[in-house]
Amino acid sequence: MNNTLAILGATGSVGLQALEVARARKHNVDFISAGRNSALAERIAREFKPTAVAMADLRAANELKFRLRDTSVRIYAGESGICEGVKQSKADTVINAILGSAGLSPTLSVIDSGKRLALANKESLVIAGEIVMSRAREKGVEIIPVDSEHSAIFQSLKAGNRSEVKKLILTASGGPFYGKSRAELERITVADTLAHPTWKMGKKITVDSATLMNKGFEIIEAAHLFSISPDKIDVVIHRESILHSAVEYVDNSIIGEFSVPDMRMCVQYAIDYPNRLEGIGAPLDLVALGKMTFARPDTDAFPLLQMAKRAFFEGGGCPAVLNAADEVAVEAFLAGKISFTDIARVVIKTYELLHGARYARTPEEIVASDREARKVAKEYTK
Ligand code: NDP
Repeated sequence: MNNTLAILGATGSVGLQALEVARARKHNVDFISAGRNSALAERIAREFKPTAVAMADLRAANELKFRLRDTSVRIYAGESGICEGVKQSKADTVINAILGSAGLSPTLSVIDSGKRLALANKESLVIAGEIVMSRAREKGVEIIPVDSEHSAIFQSLKAGNRSEVKKLILTASGGPFYGKSRAELERITVADTLAHPTWKMGKKITVDSATLMNKGFEIIEAAHLFSISPDKIDVVIHRESILHSAVEYVDNSIIGEFSVPDMRMCVQYAIDYPNRLEGIGAPLDLVALGKMTFARPDTDAFPLLQMAKRAFFEGGGCPAVLNAADEVAVEAFLAGKISFTDIARVVIKTYELLHGARYARTPEEIVASDREARKVAKEYTK
Protein backbone atom coordinates (compact mmCIF):
# COMPACT_ATOMS: atom_id res chain seq x y z
CA MET A 1 0.00 0.00 0.00
CA ASN A 2 1.65 3.28 -1.09
CA ASN A 3 0.44 6.13 1.07
CA THR A 4 1.26 9.78 0.63
CA LEU A 5 2.90 11.18 3.75
CA ALA A 6 3.87 14.55 5.17
CA ILE A 7 6.66 14.44 7.77
CA LEU A 8 7.06 17.36 10.17
CA GLY A 9 10.41 17.48 11.98
CA ALA A 10 11.89 15.36 9.17
CA THR A 11 15.51 16.20 10.10
CA GLY A 12 15.16 14.87 13.66
CA SER A 13 15.53 11.43 15.20
CA VAL A 14 11.90 10.32 14.71
CA GLY A 15 11.60 12.22 11.40
CA LEU A 16 14.59 10.39 9.90
CA GLN A 17 13.20 7.05 11.05
CA ALA A 18 9.85 7.96 9.46
CA LEU A 19 11.75 8.65 6.23
CA GLU A 20 13.38 5.22 6.52
CA VAL A 21 9.90 3.69 6.66
CA ALA A 22 8.84 5.78 3.65
CA ARG A 23 11.97 4.69 1.74
CA ALA A 24 11.53 1.00 2.54
CA ARG A 25 7.81 1.00 1.77
CA LYS A 26 8.02 3.36 -1.23
CA HIS A 27 5.56 5.84 0.24
CA ASN A 28 5.28 9.17 -1.50
CA VAL A 29 6.44 12.10 0.73
CA ASP A 30 4.82 15.29 -0.54
CA PHE A 31 5.71 17.71 2.29
CA ILE A 32 8.43 17.90 4.94
CA SER A 33 9.28 20.48 7.57
CA ALA A 34 12.44 21.12 9.60
CA GLY A 35 13.78 23.69 12.04
CA ARG A 36 17.23 24.99 11.08
CA ASN A 37 19.10 22.18 9.36
CA SER A 38 18.87 23.32 5.74
CA ALA A 39 21.73 21.03 4.57
CA LEU A 40 19.88 17.91 5.72
CA ALA A 41 16.55 19.27 4.48
CA GLU A 42 18.17 19.69 1.05
CA ARG A 43 19.43 16.08 1.03
CA ILE A 44 15.96 14.80 2.02
CA ALA A 45 14.25 16.99 -0.60
CA ARG A 46 16.57 15.76 -3.37
CA GLU A 47 15.88 12.13 -2.45
CA PHE A 48 12.11 12.25 -1.76
CA LYS A 49 11.17 15.08 -4.14
CA PRO A 50 8.37 16.60 -2.05
CA THR A 51 6.19 19.33 -3.54
CA ALA A 52 7.09 21.67 -0.68
CA VAL A 53 9.44 22.05 2.30
CA ALA A 54 8.97 24.39 5.27
CA MET A 55 11.79 25.60 7.51
CA ALA A 56 10.76 27.06 10.89
CA ASP A 57 13.84 29.27 10.95
CA LEU A 58 13.60 32.16 8.48
CA ARG A 59 17.32 32.23 7.68
CA ALA A 60 17.34 28.48 7.11
CA ALA A 61 14.36 28.89 4.74
CA ASN A 62 16.35 31.39 2.66
CA GLU A 63 19.37 29.08 2.66
CA LEU A 64 17.20 26.20 1.48
CA LYS A 65 15.64 28.33 -1.25
CA PHE A 66 19.18 28.94 -2.54
CA ARG A 67 20.24 25.30 -2.20
CA LEU A 68 17.17 24.08 -4.12
CA ARG A 69 17.15 26.86 -6.72
CA ASP A 70 17.53 24.31 -9.55
CA THR A 71 14.33 22.49 -8.49
CA SER A 72 10.63 23.36 -8.44
CA VAL A 73 10.25 22.57 -4.71
CA ARG A 74 8.16 25.27 -3.01
CA ILE A 75 9.77 26.67 0.18
CA TYR A 76 7.72 27.94 3.11
CA ALA A 77 9.10 29.76 6.15
CA GLY A 78 8.24 30.02 9.83
CA GLU A 79 5.52 28.35 11.89
CA SER A 80 2.84 29.78 9.61
CA GLY A 81 4.72 28.25 6.66
CA ILE A 82 4.61 24.81 8.27
CA CYS A 83 0.86 25.19 8.82
CA GLU A 84 0.35 26.38 5.22
CA GLY A 85 2.35 23.41 3.92
CA VAL A 86 0.17 21.05 5.96
CA LYS A 87 -2.95 22.65 4.52
CA GLN A 88 -1.71 22.38 0.91
CA SER A 89 -0.34 18.84 1.31
CA LYS A 90 -2.13 15.92 -0.36
CA ALA A 91 -0.92 13.53 2.37
CA ASP A 92 -3.23 10.82 3.78
CA THR A 93 -1.20 10.85 7.00
CA VAL A 94 0.87 13.63 8.58
CA ILE A 95 3.58 12.52 11.00
CA ASN A 96 4.27 15.27 13.52
CA ALA A 97 7.80 14.69 14.88
CA ILE A 98 8.59 18.31 15.71
CA LEU A 99 10.37 18.84 19.03
CA GLY A 100 8.70 20.78 21.84
CA SER A 101 5.89 23.29 22.08
CA ALA A 102 6.59 24.38 18.47
CA GLY A 103 4.65 21.25 17.47
CA LEU A 104 1.30 22.48 18.80
CA SER A 105 0.18 24.83 15.97
CA PRO A 106 1.10 22.26 13.28
CA THR A 107 -0.89 19.62 15.22
CA LEU A 108 -3.94 21.88 15.17
CA SER A 109 -3.39 22.57 11.44
CA VAL A 110 -3.32 18.85 10.66
CA ILE A 111 -6.57 18.38 12.56
CA ASP A 112 -8.19 21.38 10.84
CA SER A 113 -7.16 19.99 7.44
CA GLY A 114 -8.96 16.73 8.26
CA LYS A 115 -5.88 14.54 7.63
CA ARG A 116 -4.93 11.60 9.81
CA LEU A 117 -2.40 12.60 12.47
CA ALA A 118 0.43 10.27 13.48
CA LEU A 119 1.57 12.09 16.60
CA ALA A 120 5.10 11.83 18.02
CA ASN A 121 5.09 15.43 19.32
CA LYS A 122 3.86 14.66 22.84
CA GLU A 123 4.10 18.34 23.83
CA SER A 124 0.93 19.08 21.79
CA LEU A 125 -1.01 16.94 24.25
CA VAL A 126 0.95 17.95 27.33
CA ILE A 127 0.37 21.67 26.75
CA ALA A 128 -3.10 21.67 25.24
CA GLY A 129 -4.48 18.15 25.48
CA GLU A 130 -8.10 19.18 25.99
CA ILE A 131 -8.05 21.60 23.05
CA VAL A 132 -6.32 19.09 20.74
CA MET A 133 -8.59 16.17 21.63
CA SER A 134 -11.83 18.13 21.47
CA ARG A 135 -10.86 19.65 18.11
CA ALA A 136 -9.99 16.18 16.76
CA ARG A 137 -13.38 14.85 17.91
CA GLU A 138 -15.14 17.84 16.33
CA LYS A 139 -13.37 17.32 12.98
CA GLY A 140 -13.59 13.52 13.11
CA VAL A 141 -9.79 13.24 12.83
CA GLU A 142 -8.00 10.12 14.04
CA ILE A 143 -4.90 10.62 16.19
CA ILE A 144 -2.63 7.59 16.07
CA PRO A 145 0.12 7.82 18.69
CA VAL A 146 3.71 7.28 17.56
CA ASP A 147 5.29 7.43 21.03
CA SER A 148 6.12 3.75 21.64
CA GLU A 149 4.27 3.49 24.97
CA HIS A 150 1.11 5.07 23.61
CA SER A 151 1.28 3.04 20.43
CA ALA A 152 1.46 -0.07 22.65
CA ILE A 153 -1.55 1.06 24.71
CA PHE A 154 -3.49 2.01 21.56
CA GLN A 155 -2.87 -1.51 20.23
CA SER A 156 -3.64 -3.21 23.56
CA LEU A 157 -6.96 -1.36 23.85
CA LYS A 158 -8.18 -3.31 20.83
CA ALA A 159 -8.50 -6.37 23.11
CA GLY A 160 -11.54 -5.12 25.07
CA ASN A 161 -14.10 -2.36 25.62
CA ARG A 162 -13.25 0.92 27.32
CA SER A 163 -15.60 0.12 30.21
CA GLU A 164 -13.56 -3.05 30.84
CA VAL A 165 -10.24 -1.21 31.33
CA LYS A 166 -8.97 -1.24 34.93
CA LYS A 167 -5.73 0.67 34.40
CA LEU A 168 -2.92 1.46 31.99
CA ILE A 169 0.61 0.24 32.66
CA LEU A 170 3.18 2.66 31.27
CA THR A 171 6.61 1.08 31.11
CA ALA A 172 9.81 3.11 31.53
CA SER A 173 13.38 2.02 30.85
CA GLY A 174 14.41 4.07 33.90
CA GLY A 175 17.08 5.83 31.84
CA PRO A 176 20.83 5.64 32.46
CA PHE A 177 20.61 6.52 36.18
CA TYR A 178 18.23 3.88 37.42
CA GLY A 179 19.09 2.89 40.99
CA LYS A 180 21.21 5.97 41.70
CA SER A 181 20.60 7.98 44.88
CA ARG A 182 20.02 11.76 44.95
CA ALA A 183 23.62 12.26 46.13
CA GLU A 184 25.02 10.22 43.22
CA LEU A 185 22.86 12.15 40.76
CA GLU A 186 24.61 15.40 41.81
CA ARG A 187 27.78 14.27 39.98
CA ILE A 188 26.17 13.31 36.65
CA THR A 189 27.57 14.83 33.43
CA VAL A 190 25.95 15.62 30.05
CA ALA A 191 27.79 12.69 28.42
CA ASP A 192 26.49 10.27 31.13
CA THR A 193 22.97 11.55 30.49
CA LEU A 194 23.06 11.13 26.72
CA ALA A 195 24.06 7.44 27.00
CA HIS A 196 20.54 5.95 27.04
CA PRO A 197 20.60 2.18 27.71
CA THR A 198 17.99 1.04 25.15
CA TRP A 199 16.71 3.85 22.87
CA LYS A 200 18.59 6.11 20.46
CA MET A 201 16.69 9.41 20.50
CA GLY A 202 17.06 13.20 20.18
CA LYS A 203 19.01 14.95 22.99
CA LYS A 204 16.04 16.64 24.68
CA ILE A 205 14.00 13.47 25.12
CA THR A 206 17.12 11.55 26.19
CA VAL A 207 17.66 14.01 29.05
CA ASP A 208 13.92 13.89 29.87
CA SER A 209 14.18 10.08 30.02
CA ALA A 210 17.01 10.38 32.54
CA THR A 211 15.04 12.78 34.81
CA LEU A 212 11.80 10.78 34.28
CA MET A 213 10.19 14.06 33.12
CA ASN A 214 9.54 12.23 29.85
CA LYS A 215 7.54 9.57 31.68
CA GLY A 216 5.65 12.33 33.48
CA PHE A 217 4.79 13.93 30.13
CA GLU A 218 3.71 10.53 28.88
CA ILE A 219 1.24 10.20 31.78
CA ILE A 220 -0.37 13.48 30.68
CA GLU A 221 -0.26 12.37 27.03
CA ALA A 222 -1.94 9.05 27.86
CA ALA A 223 -4.56 10.69 30.08
CA HIS A 224 -5.68 12.88 27.16
CA LEU A 225 -5.32 10.34 24.37
CA PHE A 226 -7.22 7.60 26.19
CA SER A 227 -9.52 9.75 28.38
CA ILE A 228 -8.33 8.19 31.63
CA SER A 229 -7.33 9.68 34.98
CA PRO A 230 -3.58 9.65 35.80
CA ASP A 231 -4.64 7.82 38.99
CA LYS A 232 -5.34 4.86 36.74
CA ILE A 233 -1.94 4.96 35.04
CA ASP A 234 0.83 2.98 36.75
CA VAL A 235 4.46 3.61 35.82
CA VAL A 236 6.60 0.48 35.97
CA ILE A 237 10.36 0.39 35.40
CA HIS A 238 11.22 -2.21 32.78
CA ARG A 239 14.93 -2.00 31.95
CA GLU A 240 14.83 -4.11 28.80
CA SER A 241 12.31 -1.89 26.90
CA ILE A 242 10.59 -4.90 25.32
CA LEU A 243 7.10 -4.61 26.80
CA HIS A 244 6.30 -1.12 25.49
CA SER A 245 3.24 -0.67 27.74
CA ALA A 246 0.07 -2.55 28.55
CA VAL A 247 -3.58 -2.40 29.55
CA GLU A 248 -4.96 -4.20 32.59
CA TYR A 249 -8.61 -5.20 32.21
CA VAL A 250 -11.19 -5.74 34.97
CA ASP A 251 -10.74 -9.52 34.78
CA ASN A 252 -7.04 -8.91 35.75
CA SER A 253 -5.77 -9.90 32.29
CA ILE A 254 -2.88 -7.75 31.13
CA ILE A 255 -2.59 -7.21 27.37
CA GLY A 256 0.65 -5.62 26.20
CA GLU A 257 2.72 -5.04 23.07
CA PHE A 258 6.19 -6.62 22.94
CA SER A 259 8.82 -5.88 20.30
CA VAL A 260 12.43 -4.80 19.93
CA PRO A 261 12.87 -1.08 20.76
CA ASP A 262 12.60 0.47 17.27
CA MET A 263 10.62 3.66 16.61
CA ARG A 264 10.21 2.65 12.96
CA MET A 265 7.72 0.02 14.10
CA CYS A 266 5.56 2.67 15.81
CA VAL A 267 5.70 4.92 12.73
CA GLN A 268 4.86 1.99 10.48
CA TYR A 269 1.90 0.97 12.66
CA ALA A 270 0.52 4.53 12.60
CA ILE A 271 0.78 4.68 8.78
CA ASP A 272 -0.67 1.21 8.15
CA TYR A 273 -3.42 1.30 10.80
CA PRO A 274 -5.96 -0.35 10.86
CA ASN A 275 -3.97 -2.90 8.79
CA ARG A 276 -0.75 -4.65 9.72
CA LEU A 277 1.80 -5.05 6.95
CA GLU A 278 5.17 -6.81 6.93
CA GLY A 279 7.53 -5.14 9.43
CA ILE A 280 10.72 -3.39 8.38
CA GLY A 281 12.31 -3.81 11.83
CA ALA A 282 13.87 -6.94 13.35
CA PRO A 283 11.65 -9.60 14.94
CA LEU A 284 11.84 -10.16 18.71
CA ASP A 285 13.58 -13.36 19.79
CA LEU A 286 12.03 -14.13 23.20
CA VAL A 287 14.39 -17.02 23.92
CA ALA A 288 17.48 -14.89 23.18
CA LEU A 289 15.99 -12.21 25.48
CA GLY A 290 15.66 -14.80 28.24
CA LYS A 291 14.03 -12.68 30.93
CA MET A 292 12.30 -9.39 31.62
CA THR A 293 12.37 -7.40 34.87
CA PHE A 294 9.91 -4.93 36.43
CA ALA A 295 10.27 -2.50 39.37
CA ARG A 296 8.69 0.58 40.95
CA PRO A 297 10.18 4.01 40.06
CA ASP A 298 12.03 5.96 42.76
CA THR A 299 9.84 9.07 42.96
CA ASP A 300 12.07 10.56 45.66
CA ALA A 301 15.21 10.68 43.50
CA PHE A 302 13.16 11.60 40.41
CA PRO A 303 10.52 14.11 41.61
CA LEU A 304 9.44 15.27 38.14
CA LEU A 305 7.29 12.18 37.61
CA GLN A 306 4.91 13.25 40.37
CA MET A 307 5.04 16.89 39.23
CA ALA A 308 3.46 15.85 35.94
CA LYS A 309 0.49 14.23 37.71
CA ARG A 310 0.08 17.33 39.84
CA ALA A 311 0.17 19.59 36.74
CA PHE A 312 -2.47 17.47 35.03
CA PHE A 313 -4.86 17.72 38.00
CA GLU A 314 -4.22 21.44 38.54
CA GLY A 315 -4.90 21.89 34.84
CA GLY A 316 -5.20 25.13 32.90
CA GLY A 317 -1.75 26.38 31.97
CA CYS A 318 0.08 24.25 34.60
CA PRO A 319 1.22 21.50 32.19
CA ALA A 320 2.41 24.23 29.77
CA VAL A 321 4.43 25.81 32.61
CA LEU A 322 5.96 22.43 33.45
CA ASN A 323 6.88 21.80 29.81
CA ALA A 324 8.30 25.29 29.18
CA ALA A 325 10.35 25.26 32.39
CA ASP A 326 11.71 21.84 31.46
CA GLU A 327 12.62 22.95 27.91
CA VAL A 328 14.61 25.89 29.34
CA ALA A 329 16.25 23.80 32.09
CA VAL A 330 17.29 20.99 29.71
CA GLU A 331 18.76 23.49 27.25
CA ALA A 332 20.76 25.07 30.10
CA PHE A 333 21.95 21.63 31.24
CA LEU A 334 23.05 20.65 27.71
CA ALA A 335 24.90 23.99 27.45
CA GLY A 336 26.78 23.16 30.69
CA LYS A 337 25.15 26.01 32.64
CA ILE A 338 23.38 23.94 35.31
CA SER A 339 23.84 20.47 36.81
CA PHE A 340 21.64 17.42 36.23
CA THR A 341 19.83 17.78 39.57
CA ASP A 342 19.33 21.51 38.90
CA ILE A 343 16.92 20.55 36.09
CA ALA A 344 14.31 19.38 38.61
CA ARG A 345 15.09 22.34 40.91
CA VAL A 346 14.52 24.90 38.12
CA VAL A 347 11.34 23.18 36.95
CA ILE A 348 9.82 22.86 40.44
CA LYS A 349 10.74 26.43 41.48
CA THR A 350 9.26 27.84 38.26
CA TYR A 351 6.14 25.76 38.70
CA GLU A 352 5.62 26.87 42.32
CA LEU A 353 6.05 30.53 41.40
CA LEU A 354 3.57 30.36 38.50
CA HIS A 355 0.93 28.42 40.31
CA GLY A 356 -1.71 30.91 39.10
CA ALA A 357 -1.37 29.36 35.64
CA ARG A 358 -4.04 26.88 36.68
CA TYR A 359 -6.65 29.54 35.88
CA ALA A 360 -5.57 29.75 32.21
CA ARG A 361 -8.33 28.45 29.93
CA THR A 362 -8.04 29.77 26.39
CA PRO A 363 -5.18 28.91 23.97
CA GLU A 364 -3.96 32.52 24.33
CA GLU A 365 -3.81 32.22 28.13
CA ILE A 366 -1.97 28.92 27.85
CA VAL A 367 0.57 30.46 25.46
CA ALA A 368 1.00 33.33 27.96
CA SER A 369 1.69 30.80 30.76
CA ASP A 370 4.29 29.13 28.56
CA ARG A 371 5.98 32.48 27.81
CA GLU A 372 6.01 33.53 31.47
CA ALA A 373 7.45 30.17 32.53
CA ARG A 374 10.31 30.49 30.03
CA LYS A 375 11.17 33.93 31.43
CA VAL A 376 11.12 32.74 35.05
CA ALA A 377 13.01 29.49 34.34
CA LYS A 378 15.73 31.43 32.46
CA GLU A 379 16.24 33.57 35.57
CA TYR A 380 16.60 30.43 37.73
CA THR A 381 19.19 28.93 35.35
CA LYS A 382 21.49 31.95 35.73
P1 NDP B 1 14.98 15.86 17.52
O1 NDP B 1 15.55 16.96 18.33
O2 NDP B 1 15.85 14.76 17.07
O3 NDP B 1 14.27 16.48 16.20
C1 NDP B 1 13.37 17.54 16.29
C2 NDP B 1 12.84 17.96 14.94
O4 NDP B 1 12.04 19.14 15.13
C3 NDP B 1 13.94 18.36 13.95
O5 NDP B 1 13.49 18.09 12.64
C4 NDP B 1 14.06 19.86 14.18
O6 NDP B 1 14.58 20.55 13.06
C5 NDP B 1 12.60 20.23 14.36
N1 NDP B 1 12.45 21.45 15.13
C6 NDP B 1 13.17 21.87 16.21
N2 NDP B 1 12.72 23.05 16.65
C7 NDP B 1 11.70 23.40 15.83
C8 NDP B 1 10.84 24.53 15.77
N3 NDP B 1 10.92 25.54 16.64
N4 NDP B 1 9.88 24.55 14.82
C9 NDP B 1 9.76 23.55 13.93
N5 NDP B 1 10.56 22.44 13.92
C10 NDP B 1 11.51 22.38 14.87
O7 NDP B 1 13.72 15.31 18.35
P2 NDP B 1 13.14 13.82 18.42
O8 NDP B 1 12.98 13.28 17.03
O9 NDP B 1 13.88 13.04 19.42
O10 NDP B 1 11.70 14.09 19.05
C11 NDP B 1 10.66 14.69 18.30
C12 NDP B 1 9.35 14.52 19.07
O11 NDP B 1 9.04 13.13 19.17
C13 NDP B 1 9.41 15.04 20.52
O12 NDP B 1 8.16 15.54 20.86
C14 NDP B 1 9.69 13.78 21.33
O13 NDP B 1 9.21 13.86 22.65
C15 NDP B 1 8.90 12.75 20.53
N6 NDP B 1 9.40 11.38 20.66
C16 NDP B 1 10.68 11.07 20.29
C17 NDP B 1 11.14 9.77 20.38
C18 NDP B 1 12.51 9.39 19.90
O14 NDP B 1 12.82 8.19 19.84
N7 NDP B 1 13.37 10.31 19.55
C19 NDP B 1 10.29 8.70 20.94
C20 NDP B 1 8.97 9.13 21.23
C21 NDP B 1 8.54 10.42 21.11
P3 NDP B 1 16.17 20.91 12.89
O15 NDP B 1 16.94 19.74 13.41
O16 NDP B 1 16.28 21.09 11.39
O17 NDP B 1 16.43 22.18 13.62
